[in-house]
Amino acid sequence: MGNIVAIVGRPNVGKSTFFNRLIQRREAIVDAVSGVTRDRHYGKSDWNGRNFSLIDTGGYAKGSEDVFEDEIDRQVELAIDEADAIIFMVDVETGITPMDDDVASLLRKVEKPVFLAVNKVDNNKRLANAVEFYNLGLGEYFPIASTNGSGTGDLLDALVAAL
Ligand code: GDP
Ligand code: MG
Repeated sequence: MGNIVAIVGRPNVGKSTFFNRLIQRREAIVDAVSGVTRDRHYGKSDWNGRNFSLIDTGGYAKGSEDVFEDEIDRQVELAIDEADAIIFMVDVETGITPMDDDVASLLRKVEKPVFLAVNKVDNNKRLANAVEFYNLGLGEYFPIASTNGSGTGDLLDALVAAL
């Protein structure tokens, strides 16, 4: 099996925070799609002795709040093509947004393993709120906090078991 893992999701959910926490060595920063600012960062990581490559997707101009849904879709399609497993990150602080629903509908059709990471679960109230993400129709989710690493071990256990 391959070992490429892509992190997808709309802006500001915490993808890069999670990525930076996990990677030991940053690889090239690649603009995979010419002419447009679609940043994709590649890094190497390992968990329990299992090595994998991690892709952090941007899909929008740096610093821009103005994100087009089709740019996110494009990143998801790229991830579906090149990754062996996908981490779909959402944000418990904002709850489910229309863009999350849109990404979920793309990922529900994918044969590859998809891990739903509910980020920013910093306290018990947020842990309780995270149940709403069952409504995305992707099954079980992993409550995590990328800023302090809480919950990420369970997610990584499941991830490397699927690679
Ligand atoms: P990205 O756009 O998905 O790559 O998101 P970033 O990694 O840039 O994070 C967006 C914001 O969310 C930043 O201000 C982070 O500090 C914040 N953030 C990321 N993870 C957490 C978390 O676990 N808890 C909280 N409270 N904030 C977080
Ligand atoms: Mg980012």
